[in-house]
Amino acid sequence: MKDVAFECTCPYCGKVNTKAGSVDNKVVMPKEGDVTLCIDCGNCSFVKKDAPGGMAKLDNHAQLVELCTQHPSMIGALRAWWAVRQKQGVH
Ligand SMILES: [Zn+2]
Repeated sequence: MKDVAFECTCPYCGKVNTKAGSVDNKVVMPKEGDVTLCIDCGNCSFVKKDAPGGMAKLDNHAQLVELCTQHPSMIGALRAWWAVRQKQGVH
């Protein structure tokens, strides 16, 4: 995965993330409405430039399911995040 410099604050855990990578392995700058996965807490949020930290929470789990249906590569990203956390002994 190729990263780009992109600073935002996770609206769930408050982690300041400084890079973003595309699940499609493309080099792209996240834009308004794009969904990101926080590398620290694993929650998904979307880019909203006028929100605090530039990110906003999803409205509900149904929205996450809808996003994963539209973008199946998100499921792979979520699975990879969980696999890393389990290897680290963090559940
Ligand atoms: Zn987070």
